[in-house]
Amino acid sequence: MARTDFEYIVLGLGGIGSAAAYWLSRRFKDAVLGLEQFELGHVRGESQDHSRIIRLSYHRPDYVEFAKLAYRAWAQVEEDAGEQLVLVTGGLDLGPRKSAIPLEGYMDAMQACDVSFEHLDAATIMRRWPQFRIDDTIHGVYQERSGIAMAARANAAHQRMARQHGATLRERSGVTDIRTVEGEFEVLAGETPYRCRKLVIAAGPWTNEALAHFGMHLPLEVTKEQVTYFASSDVDVFAPGRFPVWIWMDDPSFYGMPVFGERGPKAAQDAGGKPVDPDTRSFEPDEDNLARLTAFLERYIPSMLGPAIYTKTCLYTLTPDRDFVIDSIAGHPNAVVAIGAGHAFKFSSVIGKTLAELVADGKTEAGISGFGLRRPILREANPQKTYMV
Ligand SMILES: Cc1cc2nc3c(=O)[nH]c(=O)nc-3n(C[C@H](O)[C@H](O)[C@H](O)COP(=O)(O)OP(=O)(O)OC[C@H]3O[C@@H](n4cnc5c(N)ncnc54)[C@H](O)[C@@H]3O)c2cc1C
Repeated sequence: MARTDFEYIVLGLGGIGSAAAYWLSRRFKDAVLGLEQFELGHVRGESQDHSRIIRLSYHRPDYVEFAKLAYRAWAQVEEDAGEQLVLVTGGLDLGPRKSAIPLEGYMDAMQACDVSFEHLDAATIMRRWPQFRIDDTIHGVYQERSGIAMAARANAAHQRMARQHGATLRERSGVTDIRTVEGEFEVLAGETPYRCRKLVIAAGPWTNEALAHFGMHLPLEVTKEQVTYFASSDVDVFAPGRFPVWIWMDDPSFYGMPVFGERGPKAAQDAGGKPVDPDTRSFEPDEDNLARLTAFLERYIPSMLGPAIYTKTCLYTLTPDRDFVIDSIAGHPNAVVAIGAGHAFKFSSVIGKTLAELVADGKTEAGISGFGLRRPILREANPQKTYMV
């Protein structure tokens, strides 16, 4: 009979849960079970596709410091797995001098954390990257360590290495009930009742369903987002080394990356999607969203446009303030939860490591006080939403 008693259970094996299972298994070997409702590598959540932006450039010092730890965590996984998971391309945040996402906050936060950057005017940006067509109302911040976290490959590496360290990962094992029994947890997945002492919840768009077993409901919004790969006619000018990852810092906000994974660069609108139910949502691209992206590229990066190779949908799980949740559940120090708020892939390994520390040791060195589950806005039924940060 298959084993059902474990010290640790990780609920959900997307980007963050796979990382948590990996970091737990490095310390606790076969005491770790990961449960995933679909197959590993499925595309119904938040973490698939070839690439995600990784950057030190953030609007607050706590995020910048956490991003430093993110790079360190990825380097440790790369060493353990024997493969590259982060590609440094350099990154450009750019936008109007008066914008919804002021660059000044980013520069201040990086300065406070001793992260070097260059503040560039439009002429310098176009000299370095002639792909951009901007006037001198636009400025930008370049940070040389920004790049691509190789999402699908990184998830597979976390999963493979977790198994190698002794963890059990079970697919098609959706958790339908969690009960507290004498301070431990009974976790029902399909017909199988599991038992554990410590629980990590990394359920992405299904977080509220998981938290309902603890009598909790958070004001989260799950949206259907999309990215498009373009068959640009001169694809070589969008190769890593010739073109950076970039973010347009205004509302609406757009972003993109050099060629990676497909034969063309990728671009998207950030938080441009509509709210959906993760169980009933479609996988059809939103034509209006693609039209907004195309109009933006026509104006500012026209040579990127070409026939769409494909548009791929994906979900965000947004907290109202767009800050992460990384915390234990009130009254249950042996149960921890993380929510990525639509920008966590770059941090997924370090979030997994932090969850492992919290649940195993009750503490972490990482500065996560801004990511608490008990912050007032998460108790409001209809909080004001601030997605442009
Ligand atoms: C289009 C797009 C672009 C993005 N770009 C970036 C970027 O450039 N940089 C960046 O840092 N981040 C980016 N993000 C955000 C980032 O990808 C997510 O924040 C991150 O992947 C969240 O991972 P997760 O593990 O929380 O969620 P998921 O990957 O969705 O994982 C949750 C898992 O839990 C499983 N699960 C849920 N409930 C149960 C249950 N009851 N039983 C068993 N299993 C369960 C689900 O099936 C799923 O596999 C982007 C996201 C999208 C959609």
